Amino acid sequence: MNPIEDVSDFLDNLIRFFGDGDIDFGFSPNDAGSYYQYFVPGRVNLIGEHIDYNGGLVMPIAIAPGIRGLYKERSDDYIGLYSTTHKARAIIAISDLPLHYGADNDWCNYPLGVIRYLKDRRVPIKGFDLFFDSTLPEGSGLSSSAAIEVLTAYILLKEYGGQVDLPQIAVMCQRVENEFIGVKCGIMDQFAVANCKKDHALLLNCNTFEHEHIPFELDDYALLVINSKKPRSLIKSAYNDRKAESDEAVKQLRSKGALREGQYLVDASMEAVADIGDELIRRRARHVVSENLRVKHAANALRMGDLHTFGRLMTASHTSMKDDYEVTGLEMDMLAETAQNIDGCLGARMTGGGFGGCAIALVRKNAIQPFTDILSRRYEKATGLLCEIYVTQACDGVREI
Ligand code: ADP
Ligand code: MG
Repeated sequence: MNPIEDVSDFLDNLIRFFGDGDIDFGFSPNDAGSYYQYFVPGRVNLIGEHIDYNGGLVMPIAIAPGIRGLYKERSDDYIGLYSTTHKARAIIAISDLPLHYGADNDWCNYPLGVIRYLKDRRVPIKGFDLFFDSTLPEGSGLSSSAAIEVLTAYILLKEYGGQVDLPQIAVMCQRVENEFIGVKCGIMDQFAVANCKKDHALLLNCNTFEHEHIPFELDDYALLVINSKKPRSLIKSAYNDRKAESDEAVKQLRSKGALREGQYLVDASMEAVADIGDELIRRRARHVVSENLRVKHAANALRMGDLHTFGRLMTASHTSMKDDYEVTGLEMDMLAETAQNIDGCLGARMTGGGFGGCAIALVRKNAIQPFTDILSRRYEKATGLLCEIYVTQACDGVREI
């Protein structure tokens, strides 16, 4: 754990954002030596959507945009939280840490939830300032919430000599997001930003946490992330609704003996799903069960270097999210379906919870330029929105830098 040498670019950024002079940040670029610097990436899920809370398989990679965190001790018993992407900030006495989510605490709820959790488990937290500087778009399905949670947990466990067990950090942060923030997400996002490996996809069983790093080698192809710039306003309620519908499917399948106690929705057979009487619940279950099968096929395709099959599975995943799980919406369908039909694209799908956010596409390297031109033009014409497209690679998870 070495203090970093130079944080002036980061501090300049903060000062530019908050304005100089009128606010006492309690630091100056001269104390650079007492800061510790960490980084957490964002993630995209290659395939396996809305599967994590149904106990199945997902396959995310960590991506280069992420959040840098600077930690600095304070001499009092206060915690200061700052972010270059938000004007709101918090200075809270350790003895006054909130027990619950508070709307007034704005984005600080995410780190505060983690700090509260650690303090309740007797991590001997003293006063500190934590500064976040992000290149990760927020609310775009690239898991900035999981990133800021995992980064906070990692930093505090490192700084206070706790055991740094990455899968455990993921579980803890998922609990914070479920219980403190109130989003009933599964384990994938937190697990991905904590555990992913450079040049590998993470095949993760969300029930057992068993995982395998599968080489993600694209040769003549590249993975493009396409930010729809459509804000995901429905996401919190939609997540909770889909979770409830999935639970209902499990209940119905159990009552017929098609699932045993302790089994998850992904364990049902397609035949049992086809027998569900309620049409809406049947479609929800069909997405979950078929998507889990697609992840298994996709993992095999990657192991064999069969990118054409991998791409076809991505496209099939989008169709299932659109027709059966109904979490895509006009903009995401426009983006993914347009992409799928452009020359050089092997497959495309929305990634993340849905109703906006990002899509991903597997595109031949020498076709990227025309692909990008055609897609942005058609998307803008249909929706009035300017999408952002960039090539990404699989990166390492949270780390000290
Ligand atoms: P996603 O996880 O898809 O990016 P969420 O709605 O789950 O979207 O989480 C986004 C929220 O996480 C933001 O509105 C903000 O409250 C918090 N957040 C994420 N990154 C940062 C950051 N760098 N600084 C402050 N808050 C952040
Ligand atoms: Mg999130």
